[in-house]
Formats: sequence, structure tokens, C-alpha cells
Amino acid sequence: MTSEVGDALQQAIGLAGHAYIGGEWVVVSGSERLPVINPSNGERVTEIVAGTSADLDRAVAAARSAFPTFSTSPVAERLALLERIHALILERAEPLAQVLTLEMGAAITHARTAHIPFAASHVQAAIDVLRDYDFLTMRGTTAIVREAIGVAGLITPWNWPLYQITAKVAPALAAGCTVVLKPSELSPLNALMFAQIVHDAGAPPGVFNLINGTGSEVGAAMAAHPDIDMISITGSNRAGVLVAQGAAPTVKRVTQELGGKSPNVLLPDADFERAVPLGVMAAFRNVGQSCSAPTRMIVPRSRLAEVEAIARRTVEAIVVGEPGEEATTLGPIANRAQFQRVQTMIAVGLEEGAKLVCGGPGQPRGLNHGYYLHPTVFSEVSSAMHIAQEEIFGPVLAILPYDDIDEAVSIANDTIFGLGGHVQGTDIDLARSVALRIRTGQVHINHPAWDAHAPFGGYKRSGNGREYGVFGFEEYLEIKAVLGFA
Ligand code: NAD
Repeated sequence: MTSEVGDALQQAIGLAGHAYIGGEWVVVSGSERLPVINPSNGERVTEIVAGTSADLDRAVAAARSAFPTFSTSPVAERLALLERIHALILERAEPLAQVLTLEMGAAITHARTAHIPFAASHVQAAIDVLRDYDFLTMRGTTAIVREAIGVAGLITPWNWPLYQITAKVAPALAAGCTVVLKPSELSPLNALMFAQIVHDAGAPPGVFNLINGTGSEVGAAMAAHPDIDMISITGSNRAGVLVAQGAAPTVKRVTQELGGKSPNVLLPDADFERAVPLGVMAAFRNVGQSCSAPTRMIVPRSRLAEVEAIARRTVEAIVVGEPGEEATTLGPIANRAQFQRVQTMIAVGLEEGAKLVCGGPGQPRGLNHGYYLHPTVFSEVSSAMHIAQEEIFGPVLAILPYDDIDEAVSIANDTIFGLGGHVQGTDIDLARSVALRIRTGQVHINHPAWDAHAPFGGYKRSGNGREYGVFGFEEYLEIKAVLGFA
């Protein structure tokens, strides 16, 4: 690590007792300290001081007073701000990657090639949308005007922390909203670095505010706050429901990106030598801590043994290890609570009688000093099993056999969730028809490249609303009709 990167990390650690309000770093009024733990060794990196509802009131007041000017600022000014933010994320990519390795165990190569560039892509997508967006269109003599909704409260999780922050902050600022961000208390340091980027990019005071704290105190107070016009939360179903309940009395807009249990249907004519390894690696990406991870591989029963063999071979090539090592492809789970949850679900899979293809409970040899675990594949899983229904949020894949295509679709849809989906097949017409029958917000056919403009969000209990591209941007807009305008 260069001394520049080390300095940047130290600067973020030094800000851990602060909130960013009204264009400056301020000491928070609370006294509760929340440890930031390095998951590769269980050691305390630092402590953040949790904000309180009094700190939140200050942040909301700053956002409120900045709103009239910022929401009516020229598009060119907002574009210039977003372009500076984008450039600074790329300029500080290495310290940002290192901080994700430190506070959530992201393998450094993955942080450098996915977490940071994809986070920057959300800013670029907001720039692309804003550049061409028509805030006023005519329908006969009626004008349809789109206006920033107001103060946006943004609540983000720990699993793709910076990526989730930019997926919300960039379109909100593009739309002309002012924001109060509450990042996950489990991975707050990257958010402090991001706040410094927004500051250095020259955001007017009050346009962007950050407050650390717990979901139960600051998050709940944001949901209920009378001066916040909208909340966007990414997190668990539990938190998403609590936010919607807390927001109801003030009738604010709530968008939720919540859990998933995404299917990956391998059609009989799929190229199994390609589809199975890519499917395993997609499920285990980010140590399986992705809401849209395809954790249910649905395969023809007659090909089960072949799929198991390829999956085992794929897992054997995974390098589980220290997240700071460049060769590591699977670092530790991001925190102790999640580590225990994954271990419990592996035990549940065994109790339920699923066939263990590889992995299992416990920890890899020599890696018991942090939250490392075995990437695990179960086969002969049925939809009735807990491991087929519950989001595990770790590197645990369930392989479910089917006898015909209707059954494959019915298994794919047999879930309370509806976030992601995958279909693999050579006959593109068949793959398309299956994709259209899957009840999820996104479906990927044959592992295409990621698309920062493709709308992302959930059917069913995976959420409400969409993020990314123009769809994510429009969540931050109100619609006004002015009749007799022409
Ligand atoms: P979490 O729900 O505990 O926390 C997410 C955020 O919500 C944190 O900032 C937390 O402080 C806040 N929060 C918690 N309780 C709250 C409350 N009562 N009121 C307001 N805010 C509250 O989830 P997590 O453990 O950080 O993240 C993992 C979960 O998030 C998984 O279930 C995963 O599927 C989901 N997730 C979904 C997406 C998506 O885009 N759909 C993306 C990432 C994670």
C-alpha cells in the first residue's frame, strides 16, 4: 500500500466521529460508539460515533434549506458536479478499494474490478440520463413537468456499499433533490470517503449530507421525518417493511430494494461446460452477498450428475483467502452475524437431507482467524426446503432438478422474492420465452455484460420501484400537469 493510500484510509478513520452536514464535517451529538470490524481477522479497525435524531434534524434542515436553489439550478451545473464526482471516484479508486477490503472483506481484485468501477458507472449513467432528459413535455395544450421530489433520505447496506450509495446519490442529485445519506453502520468508512469526494467536487452546502448511525435510531427517524419527502432503502425485508410502516403517516414515497432468491434455469440445450461454471461464480460473487445472486440453479434431472461434477470442479478452483491478496477470489464473509447465519443455513441444508456436493460447515484449514467459510454446493434440493426459500447471503448454491420446462418455470417462480433471474440455452426463442415467464425485475440470458442503464428492482417481496438509468432517476421526480399551458 502506498503512503498516499494509507493517508486516505487514515483520513477516513479520522472522520469516524463526524457527520457531514451543511457542507462541513461536524462532531455528532451522540455518544454511542459502534465498532468497525475487519472481517479478515475480527479486529477492530475503529469506532464510529452513532448519530442521533438531533443530528438528523440538523442534516434535514440543511438539505431543506439547500433545496429551493439546487432543485432549480441549471442542468449544466448539476452535470458539472456529477462529472467531478465521477472523476474523483476514479482518481481515488485505490483507497476506495482498499477501504472495502478493510471494512467488509471484499477481495482486493474484485473491489478494484467491480465494486469501484461499477460505483462510478452509476454516476456516469446519471450524467447520461440528465444530459438528454426532457423535464417538460407537451400533451396537446397540457404541459407535463417533472420536478425534483424534495429532500431524499437514502439508507444503504454493507454488501455492495459504495455501489449502493452511488446508485442512489447520483440520480437523486441529477434530479435536483438534496439528500441525507445513512450508510450501513457495518461499513461506514467508504461512505465517509465518498462524502469527502462530494465535498471536494464542490457540492453546494446542504445539497449532500451524511449521518452515520443505527437503523433502529437514525434510519427509523428518517422514515418518520416530516421534512424528508422520500426514502430509498436497500437492505433486508425486515428493514424495508419497518421503513414503509414508519413512513406511512407522512405519506412519503418509499422505494425499496430488498432481498432475493434468484433462479438460474439451465435449459436442456444449454452449453453446460460454460453455463455451470458461470452460474456457480455468479452465485458466489462478492462471497454470495449480493441480493440478486442466482442461488437456485434449476437443471434437467437427467443432467444432474454432470452438473454436480462441473460445479465441484468450479468450486475447487476458487481461491479462498486473505482479501488483501490479489489471487484471492473468495474472501471472508463481511461480518460475524452474517457468518453465523450462513453456517446455520449450511447446517439446515444438511438436516433437510440435501446432498452435499462440496463445502459444508466449518472453516477452511488455516483460515479460522476471520469469517472465512467453505463455498458450498447442495444438490437434490427441493423447493420445499428452507435452503431453496430463504435468502442465505453467502456462498451457498442450491441445485434443483426439473423434469420439463413448465416445471422449471414453476420452480423458478416458487418464491416470495422476484429480484433477479437467469436463463441459459442455445435456442434463443426458447430462452426468451422462459425469460418472459420468470416473475422478476431482471432476467439475464446467457450471462450478458452488465448494463448500468437496465432497470433494477424487485417484483413481489423484493421491493418497490427501480434503480439505475432513467428508471432510477425518475423515482426522484414528481410529475406536475399544467393544463392550459400552451
Ligand atoms: P439491513 O436491512 O439490516 O440494513 C440495511 C440498511 O438499513 C442499514 O443502513 C441499516 O442501518 C438500515 N436499517 C436497519 N433497520 C432499519 C430500520 N428499522 N429503519 C430504517 N433503517 C434500518 O440489511 P443488511 O444486513 O445491511 O443488508 C443485507 C440485506 O440487504 C440482504 O437481505 C440483501 O438481500 C439486501 N440487499 C438488497 C439489495 C437490493 O438491491 N435489492 C442490495 C443489497 C442488499
